[in-house]
Amino acid sequence: LFAGQSEFVKGVVAMSGLPPADRIEVCFAGRSNVGKSSLINALTGTKGLARASNTPGRTQEINYFTQGPDLYLVDLPGYGYANAPLKIVEKWQKLLKQYLSGRQTLRRAFVLIDARHGVKAVDDEIMKLLDTSAVTFQCVLTKADKVKAAEREKVLAQVRGALARHPAAFPEIVLTSSEKGDGIPTLRSIIAHLV
Ligand code: GDP
Repeated sequence: LFAGQSEFVKGVVAMSGLPPADRIEVCFAGRSNVGKSSLINALTGTKGLARASNTPGRTQEINYFTQGPDLYLVDLPGYGYANAPLKIVEKWQKLLKQYLSGRQTLRRAFVLIDARHGVKAVDDEIMKLLDTSAVTFQCVLTKADKVKAAEREKVLAQVRGALARHPAAFPEIVLTSSEKGDGIPTLRSIIAHLV
């Protein structure tokens, strides 16, 4: 599945712009700067596929990528910008709600959490939205190379505690480093099993 090329399909700003629901898709959500672009680039083995720098306003769109003929990887806009204008935040939330509750082919959401920071209030909000949308989600810890083992265990415990409060949470947490490649084969395999 991940042997082939990944290609950018389109950026979507409204439900009417979604590509035909003709294949399974998984989506990626996370706070801005969590390492989402780097993770998608690492997963697909395609450098520069997902833009590795996001500025509010420019990337408030849902970006679709193909991975082989049977799968879409869906890059949701990063959230939690300190200075994002309220208008942009509201527009994003509306589209996100519509997307999560209305996309029949969406199999799983991956919620990216920085391995140094754990689950923050904004992450919890997204998880609540996933609960109410009945979209199974799985946590992916990013930048695992930046934390030592003891700190990692602490954050893992915090994340497990947070997940326990969310009925839509899938219990297995995936530790990744896009920099070192850790956890990337595991994540590919998880996604492949969903197709
Ligand atoms: P996005 O805003 O969520 O798309 O985040 P980016 O992918 O642009 O990454 C934000 C910053 O974190 C960049 O400076 C990346 O180089 C860095 N970064 C991303 N993933 C990793 C990782 O696995 N390890 C380390 N050490 N840095 C990372």
